[in-house]
Amino acid sequence: MSLFKPIEKLEDDKNQAMHEETESWTDKNAERVRCLIVGSGPAGYTAAIYAARANIRPVLYEGLEPGGQLTTTTEVENFPGYPDGVTGPVMMEDFKKQALRFGADIRWGVISYADLKSYPFRIKTDDNKKLLADSLIIATGATAKYLGLESERKFMGFGVSACATCDGFFYKGQDVAVVGGGDSACEEALYLSGMCRKVYLIHRRDELRASRIMQERVMSKENIEILWSHLPKEVTGDQNVDGVILKDLKTGKEVKLAIQGFFLAIGHKPNSEIFMDWLETDEVGYIKTKPGTSKTSIEGVFACGDVQDPHYRQAVTAAGSGCIAAIDTERWLREKEMPQMS
Ligand code: NAP
Repeated sequence: MSLFKPIEKLEDDKNQAMHEETESWTDKNAERVRCLIVGSGPAGYTAAIYAARANIRPVLYEGLEPGGQLTTTTEVENFPGYPDGVTGPVMMEDFKKQALRFGADIRWGVISYADLKSYPFRIKTDDNKKLLADSLIIATGATAKYLGLESERKFMGFGVSACATCDGFFYKGQDVAVVGGGDSACEEALYLSGMCRKVYLIHRRDELRASRIMQERVMSKENIEILWSHLPKEVTGDQNVDGVILKDLKTGKEVKLAIQGFFLAIGHKPNSEIFMDWLETDEVGYIKTKPGTSKTSIEGVFACGDVQDPHYRQAVTAAGSGCIAAIDTERWLREKEMPQMS
């Protein structure tokens, strides 16, 4: 199937029955929106800033976690323009204020239904409000996977992190642990090994899933120690993390490791569920975009930020892709609405 299909040629009816409705969608029972943005991390808010300034009247739904993943981050030191650093929640408030300043309509609410076969696109909020969108920007982000330990949740932002590039610097010269055995875990361990005294790579099996080259790099680093067949049972500490209790899965014994930073690298889940019936995604669920653009497999639907980015996952790259999405959307609407030359 080609990645780019004009709306009128959409023939993939596999989920049509699920989306068939007895009720009609008209401008009377649904709100018509020129540019609908779903998601409120750096990608969504940046798209809203650009779309509002381009006068395409964006309406943005913030979703379950207004501000996105950054609201669970304490200090952000690598976003350009904040020389003294800023906390994640404050930075997201700044983004929101900037979008509001240009007239973006930012709403609290969750989008729970999408029918992208019909045009205008049919979208519903979880309180059943109907929207008819002329264009759609998906900026719903991704969610880092966690082990599900209560203690892990307690120390989130105080020693527990799912992003070494974001938070590694705070553990300069200290001892840290990375959980996972894939490419991300190896990459995070290598990144941390450049600034930390010691990095423990904790993996639940006795072989890594990561590519051969990443395995070799990790194994050749003197300050990385792999703890095979171990599983974290509890993160310990008072205000901040001071250790982790591990279970040796071969012997059943528990050991305590003294560490100051505990990094999860056990995968991410893109928040693309409600759009997956319609859009091309990779096997994990990341929405596919045409390289160098935010264009998805359906004309008029654009994606930006972590929901389409398995590689970089940074606030600054998400913001950049939000800008691209707003520009692509404005151009698409303008070309669509231009009288056809004969
Ligand atoms: P991944 O390949 O799915 O690896 C996740 C790792 O976490 C696995 O080793 C898995 O263990 C472990 N894990 C999962 N759930 C766990 C749990 N509950 N408790 C303990 N361990 C758990 O994810 P990823 O490393 O984020 O990579 C995602 C994709 O991006 C991959 O295709 C990868 O190749 C790619 N990637 C590439 C690069 C690069 O090329 N430089 C960098 C990053 C990511 P098991 O092995 O036992 O299942």
